[in-house]
Amino acid sequence: MKTLTTIAELRAELDAQRARGRRVGLVPTMGYLHRGHASLIEAAARDCDEIVTTVFVNPLQFAAGEDLDTYPRDPEGDAAAAAGAGATVLFLPSLGEMYPGGRDSVLTSVNVAELSGVMEGASRPTHFAGMCTVVAKLFNIAGPCRAYFGDKDFQQLAIVRRMVFDLSIPVEVVGCAIVREDDGLAMSSRNVRLLPEERRAAPVLLRALQAGQHAVERGTTSADDIRSLMAEVVATEALATLDYVEVADPDTLVAVDEVAGPVRLFGAVRFSGARLIDNLAAAPGGSGGSAS
Ligand code: AMP
Repeated sequence: MKTLTTIAELRAELDAQRARGRRVGLVPTMGYLHRGHASLIEAAARDCDEIVTTVFVNPLQFAAGEDLDTYPRDPEGDAAAAAGAGATVLFLPSLGEMYPGGRDSVLTSVNVAELSGVMEGASRPTHFAGMCTVVAKLFNIAGPCRAYFGDKDFQQLAIVRRMVFDLSIPVEVVGCAIVREDDGLAMSSRNVRLLPEERRAAPVLLRALQAGQHAVERGTTSADDIRSLMAEVVATEALATLDYVEVADPDTLVAVDEVAGPVRLFGAVRFSGARLIDNLAAAPGGSGGSAS
């Protein structure tokens, strides 16, 4: 695996590979890689010849007071994990390489309206524009490729797909199932920031979504009832503070009033150490899917 740190090097490398007929797979991450990230790299390695993992903690997608400074980092561990999962290139740009004048010097912002205003966008109003701006930049640097994103960040995936469609970016976006710990907690780099008792309590989020999923499967159609049920499950855990639970259309992410077909259930909870998000498919009659 080659480690590259400059935009020019990565561009030259991928242009050369494509000229030889090799297919490029791209896995953008913020590092502190875990098995969820590895599953994306492995999926890319199955489909593509040149597998690029990018590690960049993008300041544009953190608001003041969020966890930019304490976001976990482990460049050596990331190199080992990326290589182990099949990456052929690790792109590790510095902040100065990505934003030469610093974060405040970036005047361009990519905003996918509406999809970015609900759920995570309501809780973190500047997050998705910052995310889209860096993903658009990484797509421009990488060039034509397939790019792999996790269902873990389902709203992010929907927004990236829409950005690619609206801007005719020559990237094929591939979504990958959520990888979970044995107790159901969705893997996340932020999980290490949970206190031990919070880590034990954290699966409450999936339990809440599963309660909603079962209600949908059993024929409950009132989204208000399903939201209340999910919130009640979160409330059984004193260490967790509910941010939101939602029942939404899986494509438009618009909140539904009545469940009449497949929906996506979303939740976000805060612990003292970290804010966690998760989501689950659900459908009347039970074809919504498993815990992915
Ligand atoms: P992050 O490093 O948190 O920005 O995540 C980078 C990519 O990995 C995103 O596309 C995430 O959705 C994906 N990802 C993170 N955690 C998981 C997980 N537990 N399962 C599947 N994909 C994940």
